[in-house]
Amino acid sequence: MHYHNTYKNLDTRLYTRQLPTPLDNPRAGHLNLQVAEQLGWADDADLMAHWVEILGGHYVPEQFAPLSMAYAGHQFGQWAGQLGDGRGLLMAQVLDKDGQLQDLHLKGSGLTPYSRMGDGRAVLRSTIREYLCGHALTQLGIASSNALGFIVSDTPVHRERIESGAALMRVADSHIRLGHVEWIASFAPDLLDEFTDYMIDTYYPDCRNSEQPVLAFLQAVVERSARMIADWQLIGFAHGVMNTDNLSITGSTLDFGPFGFMERFNPAWINNHSDYSGRYAYQNQPAIGHWNLNNWLPHFMRLTQAGVTRDSLAACLEVYEPVFMQHYQQGLCRKLGLPHQSESLVLAFEFLTFLEDNLLDYTNSFRALLGLVATEAHPHEQQLLANLLAELNEDAKQVWQDWQTRYMTQIQAASQEQVVLDLQSNNPVYILRNDMAQRAIDAAEQGQFEEVARLFDLLQTPYIVQDIATDLDSRPPAPNARPLPISCSS
Ligand code: AMP
Ligand code: MG
Ligand code: MG
Repeated sequence: MHYHNTYKNLDTRLYTRQLPTPLDNPRAGHLNLQVAEQLGWADDADLMAHWVEILGGHYVPEQFAPLSMAYAGHQFGQWAGQLGDGRGLLMAQVLDKDGQLQDLHLKGSGLTPYSRMGDGRAVLRSTIREYLCGHALTQLGIASSNALGFIVSDTPVHRERIESGAALMRVADSHIRLGHVEWIASFAPDLLDEFTDYMIDTYYPDCRNSEQPVLAFLQAVVERSARMIADWQLIGFAHGVMNTDNLSITGSTLDFGPFGFMERFNPAWINNHSDYSGRYAYQNQPAIGHWNLNNWLPHFMRLTQAGVTRDSLAACLEVYEPVFMQHYQQGLCRKLGLPHQSESLVLAFEFLTFLEDNLLDYTNSFRALLGLVATEAHPHEQQLLANLLAELNEDAKQVWQDWQTRYMTQIQAASQEQVVLDLQSNNPVYILRNDMAQRAIDAAEQGQFEEVARLFDLLQTPYIVQDIATDLDSRPPAPNARPLPISCSS
């Protein structure tokens, strides 16, 4: 691997250098060979032979430079003061096969100075959810952390019950969160200039060509965040805990806890059972992204470098909404296979209302359009369309009939080939439904990892119908089923 450990060169107040605390008897859960290849990990026989010991905290290769990071954050809208890596270590930074900087971050690696009241551990359940979710989003084409792999151990971890300690080697283009800057502003404001330079040089080097690099950088963070959240909305992803300590400065999805993928369409859906007020409901995500950035940007007024004024920061934030809207609306039109224009948007929003009124599955309903449009639709897509129709009452059938007539008229104007391609490449067949993840977790807790591996393979190519799928992989819960309780306890 091409090591590039630069965070350790920053001021020592920003982190604590330390080793992981070993887990008892670590055993392989799953290894992502594609990530191993991309990192250059797969080219190193020592790393490949010892990956389980490394993730289990028993072996730290010489070129690693483990440290826990300090950061702060607003949790559920309230200032939470110092947080930090309470149960994770930045193990190494590497330049991958494309020259892209990647952080290797071991989650579940034991106590750190930032653990507060926690035990520094992660349980198998949440580790599997994070592992599969990072993979799912990455393969869906959404900017996200991913993972090299995970292990399970005999170390007991106390949650509502006693569970097995596990560890995940997370891979992300950065682990700097909005909350890093909040920590500096509160606890070490003299570091802000140096840290801002580090963020620009490391993650946004192109901004150096701008007349005002800091403002160019801040605007780029705003733009990337807006695009990431637009991608979440389009795919039906709810992060669940959009605290400022869980949002990366690179606009890459980070920190998977009580996340979920939309099933029966309900914009007000709250996947996180600990989110009593619905602050992080699916439909609130774009506004919360704005709230976070609006809280974050003023810290840069402290910079001694000229150019950052209240007005210039307001101008940076002003691009958030148009960037979000452009990306979201364009994506929505593509999900229908239509050009980005007002007639398409009218149809798209009518379709969403139709899904909401009839509690239809978000993912399956968009994919079912192939059953309508493609002359040679896959039997799976024909089945999805049949399922959709079977759920409609007489009134809804009328609405559908009217909508599809107008939709087919607009489709006629476009190239059939392009429409089918757009439908196939913007509407996944497979998402990580909560009960799919739960079935894999139940088996893994009995020592069986085959279902994790199968879901991993399924989610590898989410836009293609696959033989290894079962009916359960595309089945939404019954319309009024009680949802699985997904909470922050991980
Ligand atoms: P999260 O809600 O997972 O983003 O975590 C918020 C903060 O609590 C972060 O600083 C985490 O590092 C820390 N934390 C979460 N779980 C634990 C744990 N089991 N032990 C120590 N710290 C934790
Ligand atoms: Mg977090
Ligand atoms: Mg977390």
